[in-house]
Amino acid sequence: AKQQGRNCFRVHRPGGSESAQQRRQALRGGLAAALREGQLALAYQPQLDLASRRCVGMEALLRWQHPTLGAIRPMDFIPFAESGGQIVPIGEWALQQACAQLVQWRRRDPRLRVGVNLSPVQLADDAALERLCNILADSGLAAGAVELELTENLLVDRSPVMLGRMARLRAAGFGLAIDDFGIGYSSLAYLDSFPVTTLKIDRAFVRPLQEQVAHRSAIVQAIVAVGRALGIEVVAEGIETERQAGRLAQLGCRVGQGYLFAEPQPAAQVDHWVQPGPDGGPAATAPGRFTS
Ligand code: C2E
Ligand code: MG
Ligand code: MG
Ligand code: MG
Repeated sequence: AKQQGRNCFRVHRPGGSESAQQRRQALRGGLAAALREGQLALAYQPQLDLASRRCVGMEALLRWQHPTLGAIRPMDFIPFAESGGQIVPIGEWALQQACAQLVQWRRRDPRLRVGVNLSPVQLADDAALERLCNILADSGLAAGAVELELTENLLVDRSPVMLGRMARLRAAGFGLAIDDFGIGYSSLAYLDSFPVTTLKIDRAFVRPLQEQVAHRSAIVQAIVAVGRALGIEVVAEGIETERQAGRLAQLGCRVGQGYLFAEPQPAAQVDHWVQPGPDGGPAATAPGRFTS
């Protein structure tokens, strides 16, 4: 039916920009229903400790299964959700889902974390910000369990208001990751002012590690050095080959994610990545219960 829907859509295509406009309109108009009618879902991508290959976290990524247009990528609908304002309820839904899923997974591995992407629009007003904090509080998750991923362009604005909002998120227990680090317009100076917990190296800097040329790794080396100096965790994204994973580990990057290990998938399909932690799982908690 989905396939058919896509074909039907093509039939109406007069070709060129008019159909592109129709598609945009369909996506823009469908966003409210997407949330209401359960067409949105989260996919999870494991984040691994590169040395042990143990899963230490999951990034939650939004997916939209449109009734007639099929699977829509985030990049094709998030801009509309941002301009139309739906990103606020959608983002809250995503955070709530990811928190509930993490509560489940933490029963097995209490150290597991989840990363949730945040739109700048979600930080534009204090009421929306407070709702995010309340979702985390209601989940009962420990501080640091949930990391919000922000793009560095957001941090160009180093106003007291923005600093206050970041501080509020940290105080509520969120970790703050800078997504796609290194490709934005910001300067390194913001790392001094913002309470950042993680830098996510953009895959544009991971890709060149495929070649064994020393200067190709200079940017990754620099980011790892900055992270180390400031006590900020560094996570590499877009790892597609063993060579890239090996180079990253050599360069001192501890954690990474990418198609090499796992693609983003529904929770049930990545579930096997969550292994009992040292002090987690029934086997580890049972003795304590019986000795008390
Ligand atoms: P991002 O947060 O930088 O997410 C990483 C993107 O890289 C994801 O694309 C992921 O599927 C993809 N990826 C993962 N491993 C590999 C790899 O090895 N190679 C390559 N080529 N790509 C890889 P996706 O899922 O299409 O998401 C795109 C962007 O949409 C995200 O970039 C994020 O900025 C945004 N996004 C996703 N979910 C949400 C959300 O819930 N809220 C908001 N505001 N933005 C979201
Ligand atoms: Mg991200
Ligand atoms: Mg990213
Ligand atoms: Mg990226």
